[in-house]
Amino acid sequence: MTERAAEAFLNMVAGRQGHFQLESGHHGELWLDLDALLTQPRRIAPWVAELTDAIRPHDVEGVCGPLIGGAFLAQASAALLDVEFAFTERVMPAVAGGLYPARYRLPPAFAPRVRGRRIAIVDDVMSAGSAARGTYEELRAHEAVPTVVGALLVLGSTGADFFAQHSVAVEAVARRPYRLWLPTACPLCDSGVPLEAVSQTAADVR
Ligand SMILES: [Zn+2]
Repeated sequence: MTERAAEAFLNMVAGRQGHFQLESGHHGELWLDLDALLTQPRRIAPWVAELTDAIRPHDVEGVCGPLIGGAFLAQASAALLDVEFAFTERVMPAVAGGLYPARYRLPPAFAPRVRGRRIAIVDDVMSAGSAARGTYEELRAHEAVPTVVGALLVLGSTGADFFAQHSVAVEAVARRPYRLWLPTACPLCDSGVPLEAVSQTAADVR
């Protein structure tokens, strides 16, 4: 079921094999046009409902998603759960070096509304988990209680491992193996495959 669900999901987004610089700073072999998801809300509604059902037992008081894709899913999930919604916005440093250079900022209006509350973080796809991690750190900085991370698709274990280490549950509609590498240990770099930097665009694998 899960494997088939992953394939169905990948058929919905424009997956492309190659050599890509991820927002986290890792190099990866798959790029997904996640913004394509947003154009068909009815088509992804069953996925959002399934993810929301997985989040429900965690008894959250709000759902927060990183812009762009995650925020739209978080809003839909919050409506289904009848809880509050919030989003975070990405802030990239002028010079992005090292791993996880992106920061995610909670608009000031949301800060008092998340304080002390159990919050679900929702994103479309999590691989290295840059957006989910950034949102987690921002929520913690505002004294919220990130309780569960939900993604339609979890690729590999890099992002999920981070949350396991912080005792935050990870829920997914589908999971699929995914290879990513540190830039210094990337076999695609070693083979001379040109690197595409897609992380500065709106659509990326996080
Ligand atoms: Zn590489």
